[in-house]
Amino acid sequence: MSGAMKSMVYLDYNATAPIRSAVIDAVAGAMAVYGNPSSVHDAGRKARAMVEQARAQVAALAGSRARDVTFCSGGTEASNTVIRGAGAASLIISAIEHDCVRAAAAASGLPVLEVPVDGDGVVDMTMLEHHLKDAPKPALVSVMYANNEMGAIQPIADVAALAREHGARVHTDAVQAAGKIMIDRAALGVDYLTLSAHKIGGPQGVGAIISAPTAPLQALIAGGGQELSRRSGTENVAGIVGFGVAALEAMAELGKGAELAAMRDRLESEIKSHTNAAQIVAERVPRLNNTSCIAMPGVKGETQVMHFDLNGICVSSGSACSSGKVKVSHVLDAMGYEAGVADASVRISLGYGTTDSDIDKFISAWKTLYDRTAVQG
Ligand code: PLP
Repeated sequence: MSGAMKSMVYLDYNATAPIRSAVIDAVAGAMAVYGNPSSVHDAGRKARAMVEQARAQVAALAGSRARDVTFCSGGTEASNTVIRGAGAASLIISAIEHDCVRAAAAASGLPVLEVPVDGDGVVDMTMLEHHLKDAPKPALVSVMYANNEMGAIQPIADVAALAREHGARVHTDAVQAAGKIMIDRAALGVDYLTLSAHKIGGPQGVGAIISAPTAPLQALIAGGGQELSRRSGTENVAGIVGFGVAALEAMAELGKGAELAAMRDRLESEIKSHTNAAQIVAERVPRLNNTSCIAMPGVKGETQVMHFDLNGICVSSGSACSSGKVKVSHVLDAMGYEAGVADASVRISLGYGTTDSDIDKFISAWKTLYDRTAVQG
Protein backbone atom coordinates (compact mmCIF):
# COMPACT_ATOMS: atom_id res chain seq x y z
CA MET A 1 0.00 0.00 0.00
CA SER A 2 1.39 3.42 -0.92
CA GLY A 3 2.04 6.10 1.70
CA ALA A 4 -0.82 8.14 0.25
CA MET A 5 -3.22 5.20 0.61
CA LYS A 6 -2.09 4.55 4.17
CA SER A 7 -2.71 8.10 5.28
CA MET A 8 -6.09 8.37 3.54
CA VAL A 9 -9.02 8.48 5.94
CA TYR A 10 -11.91 6.63 4.33
CA LEU A 11 -15.27 7.51 5.88
CA ASP A 12 -17.53 6.63 2.97
CA TYR A 13 -18.52 3.02 3.66
CA ASN A 14 -22.13 3.64 2.64
CA ALA A 15 -20.90 4.52 -0.86
CA THR A 16 -18.77 1.41 -1.04
CA ALA A 17 -16.89 -0.50 1.63
CA PRO A 18 -13.20 -1.25 1.09
CA ILE A 19 -12.93 -4.73 -0.33
CA ARG A 20 -11.93 -7.27 2.30
CA SER A 21 -8.60 -9.04 1.87
CA ALA A 22 -10.25 -12.46 2.29
CA VAL A 23 -12.59 -11.45 -0.54
CA ILE A 24 -9.69 -10.52 -2.82
CA ASP A 25 -8.08 -13.90 -2.15
CA ALA A 26 -11.34 -15.78 -2.73
CA VAL A 27 -12.09 -13.88 -5.96
CA ALA A 28 -8.56 -14.51 -7.26
CA GLY A 29 -8.92 -18.20 -6.43
CA ALA A 30 -12.31 -18.40 -8.11
CA MET A 31 -10.96 -16.75 -11.26
CA ALA A 32 -8.58 -19.64 -11.69
CA VAL A 33 -11.59 -21.98 -11.97
CA TYR A 34 -12.86 -21.52 -15.49
CA GLY A 35 -15.87 -23.79 -15.66
CA ASN A 36 -19.31 -22.53 -16.62
CA PRO A 37 -21.57 -23.32 -13.65
CA SER A 38 -24.22 -24.61 -16.08
CA SER A 39 -21.85 -27.15 -17.66
CA VAL A 40 -22.30 -30.71 -16.49
CA HIS A 41 -18.62 -31.71 -16.73
CA ASP A 42 -16.09 -31.60 -13.92
CA ALA A 43 -14.98 -27.99 -14.50
CA GLY A 44 -18.61 -26.83 -14.60
CA ARG A 45 -19.46 -28.73 -11.45
CA LYS A 46 -16.56 -27.07 -9.61
CA ALA A 47 -17.81 -23.62 -10.60
CA ARG A 48 -21.37 -24.62 -9.63
CA ALA A 49 -20.20 -25.80 -6.22
CA MET A 50 -18.57 -22.42 -5.57
CA VAL A 51 -21.72 -20.54 -6.58
CA GLU A 52 -23.87 -22.74 -4.33
CA GLN A 53 -21.55 -22.32 -1.37
CA ALA A 54 -21.77 -18.54 -1.79
CA ARG A 55 -25.54 -18.78 -2.12
CA ALA A 56 -25.75 -20.44 1.28
CA GLN A 57 -23.48 -17.76 2.79
CA VAL A 58 -25.54 -14.91 1.37
CA ALA A 59 -28.77 -16.62 2.41
CA ALA A 60 -27.50 -16.76 6.00
CA LEU A 61 -26.92 -12.99 5.96
CA ALA A 62 -30.60 -12.48 5.14
CA GLY A 63 -32.03 -15.29 7.26
CA SER A 64 -33.32 -17.04 4.17
CA ARG A 65 -33.05 -20.37 2.38
CA ALA A 66 -30.31 -20.72 -0.22
CA ARG A 67 -32.83 -21.45 -2.97
CA ASP A 68 -34.54 -18.11 -2.35
CA VAL A 69 -31.39 -16.20 -3.34
CA THR A 70 -31.16 -14.92 -6.92
CA PHE A 71 -27.78 -13.48 -7.85
CA CYS A 72 -27.66 -10.45 -10.13
CA SER A 73 -25.48 -7.44 -10.91
CA GLY A 74 -26.14 -5.41 -7.75
CA GLY A 75 -28.65 -3.57 -5.64
CA THR A 76 -29.93 -1.53 -8.56
CA GLU A 77 -30.78 -4.56 -10.69
CA ALA A 78 -32.24 -6.41 -7.71
CA SER A 79 -34.66 -3.58 -6.91
CA ASN A 80 -35.56 -3.04 -10.57
CA THR A 81 -36.35 -6.74 -10.91
CA VAL A 82 -38.66 -6.71 -7.92
CA ILE A 83 -40.43 -3.48 -8.89
CA ARG A 84 -41.08 -4.83 -12.38
CA GLY A 85 -41.44 -8.50 -11.60
CA ALA A 86 -43.69 -8.76 -8.55
CA GLY A 87 -46.87 -8.69 -10.62
CA ALA A 88 -48.13 -5.54 -8.88
CA ALA A 89 -50.93 -3.31 -10.18
CA SER A 90 -49.58 -0.32 -8.23
CA LEU A 91 -46.54 0.71 -6.22
CA ILE A 92 -46.36 2.37 -2.82
CA ILE A 93 -42.86 3.62 -2.06
CA SER A 94 -41.40 5.75 0.69
CA ALA A 95 -40.22 9.27 -0.07
CA ILE A 96 -36.65 8.42 0.94
CA GLU A 97 -36.01 5.40 -1.28
CA HIS A 98 -32.75 5.12 -3.16
CA ASP A 99 -32.96 6.17 -6.80
CA CYS A 100 -32.87 2.53 -7.87
CA VAL A 101 -36.38 2.15 -6.43
CA ARG A 102 -37.63 5.64 -7.29
CA ALA A 103 -36.51 5.53 -10.90
CA ALA A 104 -37.61 1.93 -11.40
CA ALA A 105 -41.05 2.84 -10.03
CA ALA A 106 -41.29 5.91 -12.26
CA ALA A 107 -40.29 3.86 -15.32
CA SER A 108 -42.64 0.98 -14.54
CA GLY A 109 -45.74 2.63 -15.99
CA LEU A 110 -47.65 1.64 -12.85
CA PRO A 111 -49.44 4.11 -10.57
CA VAL A 112 -46.96 5.16 -7.85
CA LEU A 113 -48.04 6.49 -4.45
CA GLU A 114 -45.40 8.02 -2.18
CA VAL A 115 -45.40 7.63 1.59
CA PRO A 116 -43.99 10.69 3.36
CA VAL A 117 -41.56 10.54 6.28
CA ASP A 118 -41.53 12.63 9.43
CA GLY A 119 -38.83 15.10 10.40
CA ASP A 120 -36.75 12.22 11.78
CA GLY A 121 -36.89 10.35 8.48
CA VAL A 122 -39.29 7.59 9.55
CA VAL A 123 -42.19 6.51 7.33
CA ASP A 124 -45.63 7.79 8.16
CA MET A 125 -47.70 4.68 8.92
CA THR A 126 -51.00 6.54 8.74
CA MET A 127 -50.30 7.67 5.19
CA LEU A 128 -49.13 4.18 4.32
CA GLU A 129 -52.49 2.87 5.45
CA HIS A 130 -54.34 5.50 3.40
CA HIS A 131 -52.36 4.55 0.31
CA LEU A 132 -52.94 0.85 0.92
CA LYS A 133 -56.69 1.52 0.91
CA ASP A 134 -56.55 3.66 -2.24
CA ALA A 135 -53.98 1.87 -4.40
CA PRO A 136 -55.09 -0.47 -7.21
CA LYS A 137 -54.65 -4.05 -6.02
CA PRO A 138 -52.43 -5.95 -5.71
CA ALA A 139 -50.02 -3.29 -4.55
CA LEU A 140 -46.31 -3.67 -3.92
CA VAL A 141 -44.96 -1.66 -0.98
CA SER A 142 -41.27 -0.77 -1.13
CA VAL A 143 -39.71 0.74 1.99
CA MET A 144 -35.98 0.60 2.58
CA TYR A 145 -34.68 -1.06 5.75
CA ALA A 146 -32.16 1.70 6.53
CA ASN A 147 -31.47 4.89 4.67
CA ASN A 148 -28.13 5.37 2.93
CA GLU A 149 -27.86 9.12 3.56
CA MET A 150 -28.73 9.51 7.22
CA GLY A 151 -29.11 5.95 8.48
CA ALA A 152 -32.66 6.00 9.92
CA ILE A 153 -33.92 2.45 10.39
CA GLN A 154 -37.50 1.94 9.23
CA PRO A 155 -40.14 -0.13 11.10
CA ILE A 156 -40.15 -2.78 8.39
CA ALA A 157 -41.95 -5.48 10.38
CA ASP A 158 -44.81 -3.02 11.07
CA VAL A 159 -44.85 -1.89 7.43
CA ALA A 160 -45.05 -5.51 6.31
CA ALA A 161 -47.80 -6.41 8.79
CA LEU A 162 -49.92 -3.46 7.68
CA ALA A 163 -49.32 -4.18 4.01
CA ARG A 164 -50.37 -7.79 4.47
CA GLU A 165 -53.64 -6.75 6.09
CA HIS A 166 -54.39 -5.01 2.80
CA GLY A 167 -53.24 -7.88 0.61
CA ALA A 168 -50.10 -6.08 -0.57
CA ARG A 169 -46.67 -7.58 -1.08
CA VAL A 170 -43.61 -5.97 0.46
CA HIS A 171 -40.08 -5.26 -0.75
CA THR A 172 -37.31 -3.83 1.38
CA ASP A 173 -34.05 -2.47 0.04
CA ALA A 174 -31.72 -3.85 2.69
CA VAL A 175 -28.53 -2.77 0.92
CA GLN A 176 -27.43 -0.51 3.78
CA ALA A 177 -28.86 -2.62 6.59
CA ALA A 178 -26.97 -5.76 5.58
CA GLY A 179 -23.99 -6.43 7.79
CA LYS A 180 -24.99 -3.61 10.11
CA ILE A 181 -28.15 -5.04 11.63
CA MET A 182 -29.40 -8.61 11.82
CA ILE A 183 -31.75 -9.43 8.94
CA ASP A 184 -34.34 -12.18 8.96
CA ARG A 185 -36.57 -12.01 5.90
CA ALA A 186 -39.28 -14.28 7.23
CA ALA A 187 -39.39 -12.65 10.67
CA LEU A 188 -39.69 -9.22 9.02
CA GLY A 189 -42.57 -10.56 6.97
CA VAL A 190 -41.29 -9.16 3.67
CA ASP A 191 -41.64 -10.90 0.32
CA TYR A 192 -38.53 -9.46 -1.30
CA LEU A 193 -35.26 -8.08 -0.07
CA THR A 194 -32.43 -6.40 -2.00
CA LEU A 195 -28.73 -6.90 -1.17
CA SER A 196 -25.51 -5.54 -2.70
CA ALA A 197 -22.06 -7.08 -2.21
CA HIS A 198 -19.95 -3.93 -2.33
CA LYS A 199 -21.61 -2.35 0.69
CA ILE A 200 -20.33 -5.18 2.89
CA GLY A 201 -16.79 -5.42 1.57
CA GLY A 202 -17.51 -7.65 -1.40
CA PRO A 203 -16.93 -6.86 -5.07
CA GLN A 204 -18.84 -4.16 -6.93
CA GLY A 205 -21.30 -5.32 -9.56
CA VAL A 206 -22.81 -8.24 -7.61
CA GLY A 207 -26.06 -8.32 -5.68
CA ALA A 208 -28.98 -10.52 -4.82
CA ILE A 209 -32.74 -10.62 -4.59
CA ILE A 210 -34.01 -12.65 -1.65
CA SER A 211 -37.59 -13.70 -2.26
CA ALA A 212 -40.17 -15.59 -0.26
CA PRO A 213 -40.92 -19.06 -1.66
CA THR A 214 -44.46 -18.00 -2.58
CA ALA A 215 -43.63 -14.56 -4.02
CA PRO A 216 -43.94 -14.17 -7.81
CA LEU A 217 -40.79 -12.92 -9.51
CA GLN A 218 -40.85 -12.32 -13.23
CA ALA A 219 -37.33 -12.11 -14.67
CA LEU A 220 -36.12 -8.74 -15.93
CA ILE A 221 -33.42 -10.40 -18.02
CA ALA A 222 -34.46 -13.31 -20.25
CA GLY A 223 -32.06 -15.82 -21.73
CA GLY A 224 -30.63 -19.18 -20.81
CA GLY A 225 -32.71 -19.64 -17.67
CA GLN A 226 -29.96 -19.39 -15.07
CA GLU A 227 -30.86 -18.65 -11.45
CA LEU A 228 -34.03 -20.78 -11.71
CA SER A 229 -35.06 -18.61 -14.67
CA ARG A 230 -35.28 -15.59 -12.37
CA ARG A 231 -32.18 -13.95 -13.89
CA SER A 232 -30.59 -15.24 -17.04
CA GLY A 233 -26.94 -14.89 -17.98
CA THR A 234 -23.89 -16.88 -16.95
CA GLU A 235 -23.30 -16.17 -13.30
CA ASN A 236 -20.46 -13.85 -12.24
CA VAL A 237 -18.80 -16.75 -10.45
CA ALA A 238 -15.82 -14.90 -9.00
CA GLY A 239 -17.98 -11.96 -7.90
CA ILE A 240 -20.51 -14.28 -6.31
CA VAL A 241 -17.76 -16.14 -4.45
CA GLY A 242 -16.50 -12.78 -3.16
CA PHE A 243 -20.03 -11.85 -2.10
CA GLY A 244 -20.28 -15.08 -0.11
CA VAL A 245 -17.03 -14.46 1.75
CA ALA A 246 -18.03 -10.86 2.45
CA ALA A 247 -21.40 -12.06 3.80
CA LEU A 248 -19.65 -14.53 6.09
CA GLU A 249 -17.31 -11.87 7.49
CA ALA A 250 -20.07 -9.27 7.78
CA MET A 251 -22.19 -11.72 9.81
CA ALA A 252 -19.29 -12.40 12.14
CA GLU A 253 -18.88 -8.66 12.74
CA LEU A 254 -22.51 -7.94 13.59
CA GLY A 255 -21.64 -7.85 17.29
CA LYS A 256 -19.16 -5.02 16.75
CA GLY A 257 -21.79 -2.40 16.00
CA ALA A 258 -21.41 -0.81 19.43
CA GLU A 259 -17.75 0.01 18.72
CA LEU A 260 -18.71 1.86 15.56
CA ALA A 261 -21.55 3.63 17.35
CA ALA A 262 -19.13 4.80 20.06
CA MET A 263 -16.79 6.32 17.45
CA ARG A 264 -19.68 7.90 15.55
CA ASP A 265 -21.18 9.30 18.76
CA ARG A 266 -17.85 10.81 19.82
CA LEU A 267 -17.52 12.47 16.43
CA GLU A 268 -20.97 13.99 16.75
CA SER A 269 -20.63 15.08 20.35
CA GLU A 270 -17.26 16.79 19.73
CA ILE A 271 -18.74 18.72 16.82
CA LYS A 272 -21.80 19.66 18.84
CA SER A 273 -19.68 20.86 21.71
CA HIS A 274 -17.69 23.01 19.26
CA THR A 275 -20.81 24.73 17.94
CA ASN A 276 -24.53 24.43 18.37
CA ALA A 277 -24.98 25.43 14.70
CA ALA A 278 -24.30 21.87 13.53
CA GLN A 279 -27.36 19.73 12.88
CA ILE A 280 -27.26 15.96 13.08
CA VAL A 281 -29.89 14.46 10.82
CA ALA A 282 -32.12 11.67 12.22
CA GLU A 283 -30.34 11.93 15.55
CA ARG A 284 -33.42 11.11 17.63
CA VAL A 285 -34.39 7.81 16.01
CA PRO A 286 -32.75 4.40 15.73
CA ARG A 287 -30.01 4.78 13.14
CA LEU A 288 -27.32 2.63 11.61
CA ASN A 289 -24.37 2.60 14.01
CA ASN A 290 -21.94 3.66 11.32
CA THR A 291 -23.77 6.60 9.77
CA SER A 292 -23.79 10.31 10.54
CA CYS A 293 -25.26 13.06 8.40
CA ILE A 294 -24.16 16.47 9.60
CA ALA A 295 -25.21 19.87 8.32
CA MET A 296 -22.80 22.79 8.66
CA PRO A 297 -25.21 25.56 7.74
CA GLY A 298 -23.76 28.10 5.34
CA VAL A 299 -21.19 25.76 3.79
CA LYS A 300 -22.25 23.80 0.72
CA GLY A 301 -21.88 20.03 0.96
CA GLU A 302 -19.71 19.98 -2.19
CA THR A 303 -17.38 22.58 -0.66
CA GLN A 304 -17.10 20.48 2.47
CA VAL A 305 -16.39 17.31 0.48
CA MET A 306 -13.59 19.15 -1.36
CA HIS A 307 -12.16 20.51 1.89
CA PHE A 308 -12.13 17.06 3.48
CA ASP A 309 -10.64 15.58 0.32
CA LEU A 310 -7.81 18.12 0.40
CA ASN A 311 -7.21 16.94 3.96
CA GLY A 312 -7.08 13.29 2.86
CA ILE A 313 -10.57 12.43 4.11
CA CYS A 314 -13.24 10.78 1.93
CA VAL A 315 -16.87 11.56 2.75
CA SER A 316 -19.98 12.18 0.60
CA SER A 317 -22.47 14.96 0.20
CA GLY A 318 -25.95 13.53 -0.18
CA SER A 319 -25.88 10.01 -1.56
CA ALA A 320 -22.74 9.10 -3.47
CA CYS A 321 -24.75 7.62 -6.30
CA SER A 322 -26.30 11.00 -7.00
CA SER A 323 -23.42 13.27 -6.12
CA GLY A 324 -21.91 14.89 -9.16
CA LYS A 325 -25.41 16.09 -9.94
CA VAL A 326 -26.03 19.36 -8.13
CA LYS A 327 -29.44 18.78 -6.62
CA VAL A 328 -30.76 18.88 -3.11
CA SER A 329 -31.03 15.47 -1.51
CA HIS A 330 -34.58 14.17 -1.91
CA VAL A 331 -34.14 12.49 1.47
CA LEU A 332 -33.46 15.67 3.43
CA ASP A 333 -36.09 17.45 1.37
CA ALA A 334 -38.65 14.79 2.34
CA MET A 335 -37.66 15.26 5.99
CA GLY A 336 -38.58 18.92 5.71
CA TYR A 337 -35.10 20.44 5.80
CA GLU A 338 -34.83 23.77 4.04
CA ALA A 339 -32.56 23.85 1.02
CA GLY A 340 -29.95 25.91 2.89
CA VAL A 341 -29.51 23.14 5.46
CA ALA A 342 -30.01 20.18 3.13
CA ASP A 343 -27.41 21.66 0.78
CA ALA A 344 -24.94 21.95 3.60
CA SER A 345 -24.82 18.36 4.78
CA VAL A 346 -22.22 15.68 4.46
CA ARG A 347 -22.50 11.99 5.18
CA ILE A 348 -19.82 10.30 7.21
CA SER A 349 -19.99 6.52 7.20
CA LEU A 350 -17.67 4.31 9.23
CA GLY A 351 -16.76 0.66 8.91
CA TYR A 352 -14.45 -2.17 9.85
CA GLY A 353 -11.27 -0.23 9.01
CA THR A 354 -12.18 2.95 10.91
CA THR A 355 -9.91 3.97 13.78
CA ASP A 356 -10.09 6.57 16.55
CA SER A 357 -7.37 8.49 14.76
CA ASP A 358 -9.58 8.71 11.61
CA ILE A 359 -12.30 10.24 13.76
CA ASP A 360 -9.82 12.71 15.30
CA LYS A 361 -8.68 13.81 11.84
CA PHE A 362 -12.25 14.30 10.69
CA ILE A 363 -13.20 16.33 13.77
CA SER A 364 -10.14 18.54 13.40
CA ALA A 365 -10.80 19.16 9.67
CA TRP A 366 -14.48 19.87 10.38
CA LYS A 367 -13.61 22.44 13.08
CA THR A 368 -11.01 24.10 10.84
CA LEU A 369 -13.53 24.58 8.04
CA TYR A 370 -16.25 25.72 10.39
CA ASP A 371 -14.01 28.26 12.14
CA ARG A 372 -12.67 29.60 8.87
CA THR A 373 -16.14 29.98 7.40
CA ALA A 374 -17.59 31.43 10.59
CA VAL A 375 -14.82 34.07 10.66
CA GLN A 376 -15.31 34.90 6.97
CA GLY A 377 -19.08 34.80 7.26
N1 PLP B 1 -29.90 0.86 -2.37
C1 PLP B 1 -29.22 1.60 -1.49
C2 PLP B 1 -29.87 1.97 -0.20
C3 PLP B 1 -27.93 2.03 -1.78
O1 PLP B 1 -27.26 2.78 -0.90
C4 PLP B 1 -27.36 1.68 -3.03
C5 PLP B 1 -26.01 2.18 -3.41
O2 PLP B 1 -25.67 3.33 -3.12
C6 PLP B 1 -28.10 0.88 -3.91
C7 PLP B 1 -29.35 0.49 -3.53
C8 PLP B 1 -27.56 0.45 -5.24
O3 PLP B 1 -26.74 -0.69 -5.12
P1 PLP B 1 -25.70 -1.03 -6.27
O4 PLP B 1 -24.61 0.01 -6.19
O5 PLP B 1 -25.20 -2.40 -5.94
O6 PLP B 1 -26.43 -1.00 -7.55
